[in-house]
Amino acid sequence: MQSSDAPALRDIVLVGGGHSHAVLLRRWAMRPLAGVQLTLVCRDTHTPYSGMLPGYVAGLYDYDQVHIDLRTLAQAAGARFVRAEVTGLDLQAGRVQCHDRSIAFDRLSINIGATPRLNVPGAQPHAVPVKPIQRFNAHWLSLLERVRARPSRVAVVGAGAGGVELLLAMQARLQRQLQPLGLQPPQFDLYSSTPQIVPTHNRRVRRYLLRLLQERGVQVHTAQTVTGVWAGCLQTASGQVFDADEVVWVTQAAGAPWLRSSGLALDEGDFIVVNQHLQSVSDERVFAAGDIACLQDQPVEKAGVFAVRQGPVLHDNLCRSLRGQALRSYRPQRRWLALIGTGDGRAVASRGAFFAAGSWLWRWKDAIDRRFMAGFSVEPEPMAAVSEPATLPLDQDEAAQALSAQAMRCGGCGAKVGASVLGRALARLPSTSGHADILVGPGDDAAVMRVPAGKALVQSVDFFRSFTDDPWVFGRIAANHALGDLFAMGAQAHSAQALATVPPGLESRTEEFLYQMLAGALQTLQAASCALVGGHTAEGRELALGFAVNGWVDASLQGLMTKSGLRAGDRVLLTKPLGTGTLLVAHQRLRARGRWIDAALDSMMQSSQQAAQILRAHGARACTDLTGFGLAGHLLEMTRPSGVDVEIDLSALPLLAGALESVASGHLSSLHAANAQFAAALREAPPAHPLLPLLFDPQTAGGLIAGVPADQAPACLAALQSAGYTQAALIGQVLPRSSEAAPLLLKT
Ligand SMILES: Cc1cc2nc3c(=O)[nH]c(=O)nc-3n(C[C@H](O)[C@H](O)[C@H](O)COP(=O)(O)OP(=O)(O)OC[C@H]3O[C@@H](n4cnc5c(N)ncnc54)[C@H](O)[C@@H]3O)c2cc1C
Repeated sequence: MQSSDAPALRDIVLVGGGHSHAVLLRRWAMRPLAGVQLTLVCRDTHTPYSGMLPGYVAGLYDYDQVHIDLRTLAQAAGARFVRAEVTGLDLQAGRVQCHDRSIAFDRLSINIGATPRLNVPGAQPHAVPVKPIQRFNAHWLSLLERVRARPSRVAVVGAGAGGVELLLAMQARLQRQLQPLGLQPPQFDLYSSTPQIVPTHNRRVRRYLLRLLQERGVQVHTAQTVTGVWAGCLQTASGQVFDADEVVWVTQAAGAPWLRSSGLALDEGDFIVVNQHLQSVSDERVFAAGDIACLQDQPVEKAGVFAVRQGPVLHDNLCRSLRGQALRSYRPQRRWLALIGTGDGRAVASRGAFFAAGSWLWRWKDAIDRRFMAGFSVEPEPMAAVSEPATLPLDQDEAAQALSAQAMRCGGCGAKVGASVLGRALARLPSTSGHADILVGPGDDAAVMRVPAGKALVQSVDFFRSFTDDPWVFGRIAANHALGDLFAMGAQAHSAQALATVPPGLESRTEEFLYQMLAGALQTLQAASCALVGGHTAEGRELALGFAVNGWVDASLQGLMTKSGLRAGDRVLLTKPLGTGTLLVAHQRLRARGRWIDAALDSMMQSSQQAAQILRAHGARACTDLTGFGLAGHLLEMTRPSGVDVEIDLSALPLLAGALESVASGHLSSLHAANAQFAAALREAPPAHPLLPLLFDPQTAGGLIAGVPADQAPACLAALQSAGYTQAALIGQVLPRSSEAAPLLLKT
């Protein structure tokens, strides 16, 4: 993340979290380039290390041992992490396109790997490619279950080192798992279009692996190109048909199809053609590395070892290119040592004509791989990074803007973001017209709207500092958080006004920041049929965003839900899991797993609109949205005006993954201490229950807490869960007010 006193001037965007980019991020943590915002856009938060992947399949490593946590690595490196799949490039505009947003770049680097070509009839529906790995992994885990139920025949198509290693790993795992249960392990078949297996390795390696496969009962079909796949069988070019219940595809890989329309020069396999500087031969702002790159003058094998070695050169060249300096050349090693695991605690070494095999090689490989992965486990307090001096070439206009951004800034109206910047950002947003009730919209001094006949106006406001450096995600969550107040009242959202502060910087970057933040917010507002009718944007040290929101309820107040509507006998429902506060702190301290933060952000982005409708339809009269005061604080706000007590069933509380570990490790929000005062409202609290701290955890865009009549509660819960609030839970019941002072009882 860029400090607000030194504005970022340029953007480097990394697409894909392959091996080269992981190495680059690690180096960036130590040597960032001042004035540059680094952003990693990746489909997966956890990226596999290829060297250990077969060991994971063989059951020798667990998931976290073989995956690099990109979100945490990026956080440690001061880089922004965007979890998104890239679907295209707009080179003219200098933007990377994802499904629902686009991201600007000054320099772009692509390290997205390659996927086996499923270019045979029937392969798409019936075969599972080894990449993307996340999909293969899900399939592998379900295959492990399926083969328990019935004897199967597994075909591996592709007999390069990857295919052979994968087959041996799968077979070893299944044998270990099934034999003790007296179940029959599957029969394996290996299909190779070439006359020999592992054709790029030496004769002794080929002979050894062939013999090993045969000893393990694998049927090896050489010179048999698979030409068709059906459910339960496959056909080869010779016309023979073979049984195959499961087909795993590990053949020659190809580049992502979206690259074809990107405008970049590609080779016949859709790989990006790069020069010796790893720079696209058709666009000097774009670099590529790893499997997706094709070196123009000396193509290399598609292997992780090359991707890893390219990382440092890529880092240097992206920085040099921004500074206008001469680029470094990448020289691939002519020979490289391949260590191929055989799934049984042994490995084969292959380098040129060299061959060796044995368990010592597996131990050696294991030590190398573990050391490599240890380099990506980030420390809670990373060593102070030494920034490369900011010597970025700027044009005259930009230099003036950069100077002004660091100079003393005015307050009052002088702190407003310039009209042209704001105008340009707003002009890029989709139109919000369509509400007949809005008589005067954005652009005038104030918005004018008609309150429809028979309706009453509901208003609320919320505002907070950014907790993520991704302005689009922040915009979505800030809007969702504000709308939560309306939904909790049972109101229909109508219109919103935004209040934003953005750090000063180059006009183009301020415009982009504002655009991203408002585009994210608008997506959330529009999904709730809520129009953005105005706002105010100022410069400030920190990114912050809030909304004043308007909604309607029936003037008769029928269907209105308030905090005072709890009735003794009601069941208490919570629509989303707890834990956003503690998880965000743990992430800041580099102590959360990336997937925990993914789930927390997804939860914060989930709208409560439908949940409120379901609650109302099931007779809820009392509701509030769970935010800063935590569960105990917000329940207390409901019990007091309702004149009731509430019993909370601690074991029923829905939790975000990692929340419990996070509070147990002492990662508590700065608001936690103030919220802990609500402990006085707890009757006979167990002194050291592990879930207690989560009662005081402040939530951002948390779920709805509601009181629902007991007879409707099970149906209400089922409706919530099938509407996508999968962790909604019945967390307690409403009791008549007792004479005791503390209104919250805990059931453990
Ligand atoms: C079974 C098997 C075993 C192997 N064993 C070895 C080995 O021991 N040693 C070795 O050197 N090589 C090995 N390889 C080869 C190795 O896997 C690849 O060469 C290596 O993974 C390529 O790395 P990469 O950095 O190019 O990309 P990858 O590691 O494939 O990473 C690509 C990344 O990009 C992301 N991504 C993809 N598309 C998009 C998109 N559109 N938008 C955003 N993000 C995207 C993915 O989520 C992923 O994080 C093996 C291959 C297989 C199949």
